[in-house]
Amino acid sequence: MALHKDEAFVLFKRAYGESDKIIRLFTRASGKVAAIAKGASKSQKRFMNTLEPFNHINVEYFEKYGKGMVRLENADIIETNSGIERSLKKACIASFFTELVDRLTKEKEPHESLFSALKELLYAVKNHDFIYSDILYYQFLMLDMLGYMPNFDSCVYCGSAMPDDKKVHFSKERGGVLCASCSKSIPHTIYREGVIPGLMLIRNQEKPLINMIFERQAQDIMEGFMSFHLDVEFRSYRILKSVIL
Ligand SMILES: [Zn+2]
Repeated sequence: MALHKDEAFVLFKRAYGESDKIIRLFTRASGKVAAIAKGASKSQKRFMNTLEPFNHINVEYFEKYGKGMVRLENADIIETNSGIERSLKKACIASFFTELVDRLTKEKEPHESLFSALKELLYAVKNHDFIYSDILYYQFLMLDMLGYMPNFDSCVYCGSAMPDDKKVHFSKERGGVLCASCSKSIPHTIYREGVIPGLMLIRNQEKPLINMIFERQAQDIMEGFMSFHLDVEFRSYRILKSVIL
């Protein structure tokens, strides 16, 4: 059994049996890793407060334990989640993104840029007050890295370029904007002029004018797109919506 040393974020934890904990980590070197922490529930000293969701930790683990699970040997804190767990809104945002990473990655597939994005996001959530466009920005950043970015640039069906004021037809099934002529034959939803270009600005870390209609429609686009293409319903998204949107 090889000992691995790595850096990780805690995505999830639950009690296992009387004294153990099962956790899922997103590690820098190996991507998502499921681990068992023996005695974590019993001994307060061993993994004291280190295995809480959103914590940034150093880990040492042995590979090959049971069904693909690794055995966590040691863990110590780099940065705690404190500040996130004390605010319902921050906890909801952090949960949404950790769930996104958890659900859209495979075990032991390294993804260092996604690790860095998750790190940036969790530190930002902790230290800043997020508005909806911040959530969208990180959502785009991560979806893009995972290969699930909606196409806002050109007609998703015929590929033709479109001026911004013509980007009003969005097909969640096709995953992008449609030009006027393709929109005649392909099911889609019509959004207000400026909403889709606004999403492109957010993706590029610029600030569009955001009002309630923009938020509603942006949310509708992203919700339709994500539930159709990712085939998962995010528990945390429903809660996030009730808290922030
Ligand atoms: Zn077209």
